[in-house]
Amino acid sequence: MAAAAVAEQLGLVRAGLLQVGRLEIDVVVVPDRRSVRLTVERDARITATVPAGIDVALLVSTVKGRRRWIYDKLDERTDEAAVRPVKEFVTGEGFNYLGRSYRLKLVDDARAPVRLVRGRFMMRRDDLDRAEDELIAWYRDRGRAWLPARAEPWAQRMRAPVQDIVVRRLGYRWGSCNRDGGVNIHWAVMQLPPNLVDYVLVHELAHLHRKDHSKEFWAVVARAMPDYEVRRAELDKLGATLWLP
Ligand SMILES: [Zn+2]
Repeated sequence: MAAAAVAEQLGLVRAGLLQVGRLEIDVVVVPDRRSVRLTVERDARITATVPAGIDVALLVSTVKGRRRWIYDKLDERTDEAAVRPVKEFVTGEGFNYLGRSYRLKLVDDARAPVRLVRGRFMMRRDDLDRAEDELIAWYRDRGRAWLPARAEPWAQRMRAPVQDIVVRRLGYRWGSCNRDGGVNIHWAVMQLPPNLVDYVLVHELAHLHRKDHSKEFWAVVARAMPDYEVRRAELDKLGATLWLP
């Protein structure tokens, strides 16, 4: 076991998990990267994106050199988990939609499991055992109806030929995209105010030009949305408080 660990420390970096002290690092090898990039995800997962062909010893020393930063980030993530609300499906509970809070009202008969009527989320009492799924489905439907038209002017301005917007559960990312021009948006994004939804859209549309988060990528974002840094900071803060069961 110890011998194997030592052998591994001497080899080239491979994709997979790498243990550095108490830290477990998820290693992703990207052939055209030039340097190591460390990220701490919202679920406290630590990812190292590394160029192909760098050796383990170099990666380990890079991680060690940034231990302080990693632990600070992990602390922030723990604080975030503490502010994330737990919602109860009782009359009076508030749920956000496009940046505004609406109170829930349980009703005995309604045409649909969830409806937003006159500033109230009406939810059928009979559906309470599926309340979470029903409300998520409602956000997804709203997203499907609202996001394509919202994205359209940005897509034109950015010459980003978006093929399709899929609204779904995306784990700890607000958006992602694929090489066929498809963009995925997390249903929880529909809780954000429109100016922050726009940032998520612009970010993903920019990825249709550049897959990475290079300087060139951020230049594409900045051209379309000169105040993106302010919005990104707001999203970081507000995103941590969204309902995300
Ligand atoms: Zn991105």
